[in-house]
Amino acid sequence: MLSWIRSPETPHRNFAFLDRDGVINVDRPDYIKGWGEYHFYPDALEALRWLREQSINAILISNQSALNRGIVRREDFWDIHDRMIHGIREAGGDLLAAFYCPHRPDEKCACRKPEPGMLLAACAVYRISMENVCMIGDRETDLSAAARAGCRGILLERLSGEAGAGESSPPAVPSPGAAAGRSVYRDLLQAVLSVYRFAVMP
Ligand SMILES: [Mg+2]
Ligand SMILES: [Zn+2]
Repeated sequence: MLSWIRSPETPHRNFAFLDRDGVINVDRPDYIKGWGEYHFYPDALEALRWLREQSINAILISNQSALNRGIVRREDFWDIHDRMIHGIREAGGDLLAAFYCPHRPDEKCACRKPEPGMLLAACAVYRISMENVCMIGDRETDLSAAARAGCRGILLERLSGEAGAGESSPPAVPSPGAAAGRSVYRDLLQAVLSVYRFAVMP
């Protein structure tokens, strides 16, 4: 497991676990191999700013098997990470930490989602109680990892893979996830506002 860990600026104890690809930035089937392929979702930057304004610590929880598949070089991977952090901060947001699984599925590690290893590590580092945190992701594996770790999972079902879909958040509409009785959101801003607006602890 690769981890990038900082100390909280203030002793607040609200946290949000966020997947990266498909949640913060546009995913691509051939992996994000360099910064030129990394495109923020505008709503994600707004969401991260809102979380920071509410003193909610955002923690990235991300499978990055392209590393051990040999598709992405470590230096390029960390370059993406550094520029991502810079971009988030420029937009008024922040990340407290990032946990990445570099392993391929055949390595059978304990951190690749749907395994809960990264969530458990984050909880151990920051003494997070699982009942007070959500994992927001765009895949079933994100929800499975959340369930195995004992926290709430929130599914993003974005309408398209394109960045810049607009600045407003469309209302939730029926979807396969919703039909399955789950909370489903179309973008990250809508998700964090819905989940955290009335849930922020003093
Ligand atoms: Mg994803
Ligand atoms: Zn792993």
